[in-house]
Amino acid sequence: MTAKISIYRYGHRPARDKRITTHVALTARAFGASNIIIDTPDKNIEDNIKKVVENFGGQFQVESGVSLEKFLSSEPKFIHLTMYGKPIQDAEKSIRELLDKNDNIYIFVGAEKVPGIVYSKSSLNVAVSQQPISEVSALAIILDRIYEGNELDTHQWGQTRIIPNERGKTIEFIPNKSSCIEILKRHGASKELLEHSLAVEYVAHKICESIECNYDLVSAGALLHDIGRTFDNTITHGIKGSEILEKERISKRVQSVVLRHIGGGITDEEAQTMNIKERGLIPITIEEKVVCTADNLVKGNKRISIDEQVCRYNEKNLPEAAKRIKKLYDEICQMAGFDIDTIQLWE
Ligand code: SAM
Repeated sequence: MTAKISIYRYGHRPARDKRITTHVALTARAFGASNIIIDTPDKNIEDNIKKVVENFGGQFQVESGVSLEKFLSSEPKFIHLTMYGKPIQDAEKSIRELLDKNDNIYIFVGAEKVPGIVYSKSSLNVAVSQQPISEVSALAIILDRIYEGNELDTHQWGQTRIIPNERGKTIEFIPNKSSCIEILKRHGASKELLEHSLAVEYVAHKICESIECNYDLVSAGALLHDIGRTFDNTITHGIKGSEILEKERISKRVQSVVLRHIGGGITDEEAQTMNIKERGLIPITIEEKVVCTADNLVKGNKRISIDEQVCRYNEKNLPEAAKRIKKLYDEICQMAGFDIDTIQLWE
């Protein structure tokens, strides 16, 4: 089945139906529909649903202010959900045929009384039980039947992800690009810091195109890697940065990228000699290594070669750190299958 499923919500009364229409939209989104069209204009619902999509992911769209007349004038193919229709268990074959023959099928759900013309213009009038039930449950059941349960496994996550948990709640927040920039600005990041962060993200992104890794994690880690500099412009800015992210409730995985991005990482022995009490500052995951290496290929908002970077560390009399940077760079080149020093900014 390739048909796109859209929902048409009829009879929405903004004051009375705010909650139930929001639930219709959330259910439509979670159970695989592509979009919802609401008859009465309601900017609040539109904004709320857009926020959910930004946070929890997917491409679901919402539009309001399309009257029934306008909806019917485009001669849509639609299934009208009504307790007076054909029982869903008897209508499955007709539903499948409709979905197979059309690119876009609407599911029509009412709020207030639905006029007779809807019953005659619909392709099918379908009842989910012949009892009065909520449009939310009727919609969930028909979508689940249409997608045969597969919609539950195919969701694309946004910046907030729920990690399944038998007890308690685990939520992972990996901010998207606009949220990262907002967080950086809120913490007083300078223009130079923002430019540097964007340049590192660009290089990291280019590396990611050739390496299997979590791009959202790399992107957030790259954009936020120097957030600690808004407070502490020393070698401990990675530690400060991860503390800021902890307060922002940002994913521990992003925190680790930020914590471990200095040079090619800091060994426990080096940390001890530098009076740094934290340990475990060497990048371990692919995402940590990619951001670390991308940062080593950018100075300010300019690309620098790996040789220049290695030289800088040697000139600072840090030969071990220089070797570690080069080793990490070689490892990433090997994984990427090309010399990442050929990456140009903004090409
Ligand atoms: N929200 C309305 C109210 O506040 O009065 C309730 C009216 S009714 C529950 C709203 C819609 O639910 C109907 O237009 C229909 O689309 C759907 N509905 C209710 N019972 C149904 C059933 N048994 N099968 C399919 N759809 C049903």
